[in-house]
Amino acid sequence: MKALHLDAVQDVGISEVARPTVGAHDVRVRVRACGLCGSDLSVYLGQHPFRKAPVVLGHEVAGEVTEVGSGVDAVALGDRVAIEPQIACGRCAACTAGHGNVCANKGVVGVDFPGLLSEEVAVPDSIVYPLAGDIDWAIGAMAEPLAVACRAVRAFGDCLGRRVAVLGVGAIGALVALLARHGGATRLLVTDVRQPNLDAVAAATGATTINVGGGSARDAGSALTDGQGFDAVFVAAGAPVVLRDAQALCRKGGMIVAIALFAEPVPVDMDALVTGELTLRGSSMYTPDDFGAAVAFINSGALDVEALISHRIGLDEAPAMVRDMVDGTDHLKVTVLL
Ligand SMILES: [Zn+2]
Ligand SMILES: [Zn+2]
Repeated sequence: MKALHLDAVQDVGISEVARPTVGAHDVRVRVRACGLCGSDLSVYLGQHPFRKAPVVLGHEVAGEVTEVGSGVDAVALGDRVAIEPQIACGRCAACTAGHGNVCANKGVVGVDFPGLLSEEVAVPDSIVYPLAGDIDWAIGAMAEPLAVACRAVRAFGDCLGRRVAVLGVGAIGALVALLARHGGATRLLVTDVRQPNLDAVAAATGATTINVGGGSARDAGSALTDGQGFDAVFVAAGAPVVLRDAQALCRKGGMIVAIALFAEPVPVDMDALVTGELTLRGSSMYTPDDFGAAVAFINSGALDVEALISHRIGLDEAPAMVRDMVDGTDHLKVTVLL
């Protein structure tokens, strides 16, 4: 069967890989859609901390169940499903406290089990989530990035009546903006340097946009709240200037939720944090609870996730698309259909 395979750094193509076997508690899924994301690009460039070539890319999957192991009863043949691409141990202190996302023994995609952008995958039934029976495959594949966004927004809490800023609108930031708007944020600011992304998010949410063009969002951003600042600032772009902007834009007593990964340690204005009683918190991946919340949103159709899908391509087009995405500015969400 075919898979999008990274043979070596910056050497990606379609390869024949072995068809996976199905254990007693596994589910075979015929993959129908898989999103490409920034972390796949960092794997391609050899910059990912643990996913290294040779490896199958992809982890944002929706597909159809075509075989179930003898011990599986929660899903059935023909079910449409999304896959949570991590396997927490379920036994450590983090897991028992409900924080399987930070489990130190966690099995991760591309290391402990293969990447998911292949025609078929076999995964434990514990990480398979039923989608609605008529769900569009590309929208189903948005469950994974939406789960990242769900965790971040839940870290802040109720957006009803709140002023929310999202700094960086790649797919994750864009999904945070959708959730914030759906949750009743009264003022919504999104910033980025990529105008196509800003336009797409503005169309889907009515957010005010600032194209920071490599500069700072702080003056124009704070003018939007008459200097009061935002209740929540989501950091979805990993640049030092973005964290500085977040501190400047956050109201006293407000919360900064950092989702982006930073290549280097960055300074934090601790005096402003202390005297303003800001909360600065990280948000990493998702727990099963977050993933379930994302799947429920996908199944309900309550969010205009479709508006964020910029490209739908075939598997044969995927290698060239990965190369394009490295330099491109208009790839809000590329979905490979199989
Ligand atoms: Zn991803
Ligand atoms: Zn654990």
